[in-house]
Amino acid sequence: MKGGTMGNCNKTINPDYWVEGYEEYIASISYGKDSLAMLELLHVFGYPLTRIVTVDVMATENLSAYHTEVDQFKKQADDIIFERYGIQVEHIKSEHTYDETFHRIRQPGKRTKPENVGKIYGFPMVMGAWCNRDLKMNPINSYKQKNQFWYIGYAIDEKKPQRQEKIKNCYDLRMYPLCNHGIRERDCIRICKGLNLLSPTYTTSLRDGCWFCHNQSLEQLRLLRKEHPEKWEMLLKWDLESPVKFRPKETVHDLEIRFQLEESYLSQGKSITDRVFYNDLKTHIKKGIGAYVIQK
Ligand code: SF4
Repeated sequence: MKGGTMGNCNKTINPDYWVEGYEEYIASISYGKDSLAMLELLHVFGYPLTRIVTVDVMATENLSAYHTEVDQFKKQADDIIFERYGIQVEHIKSEHTYDETFHRIRQPGKRTKPENVGKIYGFPMVMGAWCNRDLKMNPINSYKQKNQFWYIGYAIDEKKPQRQEKIKNCYDLRMYPLCNHGIRERDCIRICKGLNLLSPTYTTSLRDGCWFCHNQSLEQLRLLRKEHPEKWEMLLKWDLESPVKFRPKETVHDLEIRFQLEESYLSQGKSITDRVFYNDLKTHIKKGIGAYVIQK
């Protein structure tokens, strides 16, 4: 067994949950409600569990991809998990940061358009985002070995169709313990609440994924700009270098213009949801009005 500390948890294993041919039983967690509730389920039903693994992402060498409150919650959760299940969570990460991968140069290859060769990657595209593959999946795949049985915390009412497909087509439902026991997302919230393992991201507007994520909502981006101006500045800096737009139809600078205009409208008591606003916004973006676009 490599790494991983076994604690003093003397839970009896239910023989029904040993899976032939495997020596290691690993729970992959994201600190979301489902994966943390899954740990409790494994414990209560007596599934074998030898390791708990999570992937951390770094924005730069010294800056986490997550907000401070989220990292603090993870630390607290690690203590609760060790105390309750006797296993120290293993944090693995890519050897590269988001910033480094963003600046990687595209090489000629089957999936690279000739016009992009020699350019930096820049922001990930919505489909087939490099961040998920390079910063999350690659470290997990390098960690994986043949003798390991991995548990995944998908709830029975999982919303994402690809995940539902995976559950439906899996060869052994024991790898999806929540589904094996009919546990729904709302049950996971209840379980985590009871164990003090519910992330503040469920009860506040705090974002749980990367703060620089291209998939976050407009409201989360508005909050990022307001509450974390230094991080917003980093996004604006990356935006100047990126050959790929931050969102399919908008650069970060377009968003900066939008948020500046919203502030101006709101300070005059004007609506930011009517046609007048959107027409004005179009004109501003077209003309590049605003300090940041002038720099660009
Ligand atoms: S949260 Fe967003 S930025 Fe972070 S890895 Fe996932 S898709 Fe990429």
